[in-house]
Amino acid sequence: MDADSEFEFELAVCRWAERSWDADGPVLVGRQVGTRHRRFDTVIVECDREGLRRRALFGPDRIDDDLLDVIPHAPAEWAWYQDALPDPGYPWRYVRETIHRADDRGILDVRKRGNRLQIRRRWRYPDWVARIVAIENKPDLDASAADRLAAQLEFDVALALADEVWVATERAGERVPRALLEDFPVEAGVLVVERRPDAAVETVWQPRTLTDRRPGIRILDRGGDRHATRFEYADADWTARRRQVIAERVYERGWRSYLDGLRPDCRNFECVSVERGVGPHCDAYDRTPTPSQCRGACPEFTPEPPTWRTRDWPIDGGPGRGVRRVLDAQRRRERPGLEE
Ligand code: SF4
Repeated sequence: MDADSEFEFELAVCRWAERSWDADGPVLVGRQVGTRHRRFDTVIVECDREGLRRRALFGPDRIDDDLLDVIPHAPAEWAWYQDALPDPGYPWRYVRETIHRADDRGILDVRKRGNRLQIRRRWRYPDWVARIVAIENKPDLDASAADRLAAQLEFDVALALADEVWVATERAGERVPRALLEDFPVEAGVLVVERRPDAAVETVWQPRTLTDRRPGIRILDRGGDRHATRFEYADADWTARRRQVIAERVYERGWRSYLDGLRPDCRNFECVSVERGVGPHCDAYDRTPTPSQCRGACPEFTPEPPTWRTRDWPIDGGPGRGVRRVLDAQRRRERPGLEE
């Protein structure tokens, strides 16, 4: 199966997870989110309800890696920033730049006293992430895909960035061939997701929680028949930071950011009802448009006529902008406190 079919499957998994993931609190779903070393197909962040609401005070944009060195440590009373913040391990001038950025975003109080830059928090940064679940999507699980995936899962299970790791696959015929699942680490769960309307999602293997043992292990080289596996321990602080970075990216991007890789400004592009929500559709090809096809170079690409953008359709801008607004509104609804 090609990357295009995986794209469609990935959207189906995200829609299902957003509606049906079983968690104690609200969940946020992200697509293609991760770190420099590892990008997950689907990420589910299980949230603390009140923490998520208070997170909205900081706005829809993520608290990025640099801001995480400042915002959670900002003091309740005015203080010189070097007294208030932990040593970042890099030059303070970069911290000053981050402080000014936070000031521009309105998420930190900043003032100068003499030559000294002072900071004060506007709100306490909440502990809003309860659990992180990573899902690897493989709709067409043949022997070679299963082999590659097994190595990837070993890496994810050992590193334990996520609390749970799953594989989502699609039923081929009557059942998923169990032999293909045998090489997966026992800690990884397996889901069978169907794309038919109202189709059931079946758990064929329950995962184990990964984050109750410390520390995580970063596999550097799996070795092989003739060499030992090389690995290093992942520092607990490093792991905690990477988890927070991932959660913040999910908060900002969600999974509906797929529009960024498509051409909703093409007049053949529309959003239609699909199983468990709405999804992109191309009228010209009568199928889900995919990032590799849905570009300006697409033979059927037909830009919106300029008049669509000037005649109050649907309120302002053309249909492409309208689709963006609809998806953005849906994303904000999943983040309580941002709806307005
Ligand atoms: S015609 Fe091409 S560019 Fe237009 S929506 Fe379809 S795939 Fe995308």
